[in-house]
Amino acid sequence: MQTSLTSALRDTDAGREADRILRTCVHCGFCTATCPTYQLLGDELDGPRGRIYQIKSLLEGEAPTRSVQTHLDRCLTCLNCMTTCPSGVQYDRLLATGRELVEEHVPRPLGERLLRRALRLIVPHPARFAPLVKLGQALRPVLPAALQAKLPAPGKIGKLPTRRHVRRVLMLKNCAEPTLTPAAVGAAIRVLDAAGIEVVHAGGGCCGAVSEHLAAGEEARGFMRRNIDAWWPHLAPDAAAPAEAIVVTASGCGAMVKDYGHHLAHDPAYAEKAARVSALARDPSELLGPDDLARLPSPFDRGVPYRIAFHPPCTLQHGQRLMGRVEGLLRDVGFELTPVRDAHSCCGSAGTYSILQGELSGQLRTRKLDALQQGAPVLIATANVGCQTHLAAAADVPVVHWLELFDPAPGVVPWPATAPPAGSP
Ligand code: SF4
Ligand code: SF4
Repeated sequence: MQTSLTSALRDTDAGREADRILRTCVHCGFCTATCPTYQLLGDELDGPRGRIYQIKSLLEGEAPTRSVQTHLDRCLTCLNCMTTCPSGVQYDRLLATGRELVEEHVPRPLGERLLRRALRLIVPHPARFAPLVKLGQALRPVLPAALQAKLPAPGKIGKLPTRRHVRRVLMLKNCAEPTLTPAAVGAAIRVLDAAGIEVVHAGGGCCGAVSEHLAAGEEARGFMRRNIDAWWPHLAPDAAAPAEAIVVTASGCGAMVKDYGHHLAHDPAYAEKAARVSALARDPSELLGPDDLARLPSPFDRGVPYRIAFHPPCTLQHGQRLMGRVEGLLRDVGFELTPVRDAHSCCGSAGTYSILQGELSGQLRTRKLDALQQGAPVLIATANVGCQTHLAAAADVPVVHWLELFDPAPGVVPWPATAPPAGSP
C-alpha cells in the first residue's frame, strides 16, 4: 500500500511504525471474511481492511470524524484478522495509533465520556472495583435485569497452598479476575503447587489493557511500569531466587504482558526490563505440560464432567498464538471436547466492549453460545475472565476457567451431575 504520511507524523516513532505496517497491507481483503463486525454489519468500514483505510487517511492528514471514531470503536480488537492476514499486517498496532489520534481530536458525547472515564477510574483499581461488585452482588435482587446479568454470582478463592518449591513463578494479580472469578485464581495457584511450582506474590496489578483499549496509551504504560517495578526484584539477573516465569491466568492480560516490550520499546528506563518481562510471560498452558496434568489427581474422580466444550479466547488463539494448546491438554487427560462451529470467532466480551457496545456484543454472544452448546456439553471451559463472565451470563451450562477442572481443592466449584460415557478412562 502506497503511503504519504503528514510531515508531523513521518518523523515520530508511532508514525514510522504505522507507515511500515501500512506498506505491508496488499488490500487483498482476506481478513474481511473472518471479521465478526463485518459479518454482523456487512459494511466494509466495519471490517479490518476498511478500518486500515480509515486510519491511513487520518495519518495522511484527513480530519478525524465521529464516523471514523464509531467504526474504530466497533472493532473488538479480537485480532482474528491478524490470524487470517497472509501478509502479516500488524493491525493491532495500527488500530491503537488510529484510536489515540481520533480520541485526541473528536469529542465524544457526554454520556460516552463519563462511561469511559468511569471504566478507567474503577475497573483497573481493585480497591474500587471489588467493593462495587460485592455491593452489586448483595443488591442483586433489586437491580435492573441488565445489570444483574453483568454480575457473576459470588465465588471463593479457596485455601491457598503454603509449600515452598524450587521452581518459582510470579503471577499477575490482575484487576478483575480475583473479584469476578476468584475460584479460577485459587485453582491456578493450587494446580501449579500440585505440579511443583510455587507462586510468588510480588504485587503489581492491572496489566494496562483496560486503559489501552480505551485509547489511554500513557495511562496503560503507567500500569506496565508499575508492574515491572513490582516484579523486577524477582526477575533481575542478580535476583537471589529468580522466578522462571510470569504466569498470567487471564489470556487477555497475558497477551498484554507479552506485548510490554513493544509498548515500552521507546522508554529508555524500561525498554530492556519490559522486553525481559514479555519474554518471561506465560499462559498456564505453556507452563503445565501433559505430564504435569497427568500426575494430578484425576478430575473425573471429583465429579468433573467428561463432556465439555472449550471456548478459546481471541487473546489466547489470535493474541498469544496458542491455538489448540489447551484443547490438546484437555483431550490428553481424557476430556471429550464437543464440536464447536467457528471456534476462531469472538464471543463479544472483548474487555470493556460488552459494556460499550452492548448490542453487537450481545449478538456475538448469542452466536457463540449456539455454537458452543450445539454439541450438548455439560459445561463450557475457557481461559479468560472476560469471556467466562460474559458467556456465563447467558449460557445454559456452567462456564469455568479450564484450570478449575484440575483444581485439587474439593468443593470450590460445584460440578453438575453427569455420568461418564462408556469407554472413558
Ligand atoms: S480485530 Fe476483530 S473486529 Fe477488529 S477488525 Fe480485526 S477481526 Fe474485525
Ligand atoms: S488480509 Fe492483510 S494484506 Fe489483506 S487486506 Fe487484510 S490486512 Fe491487508
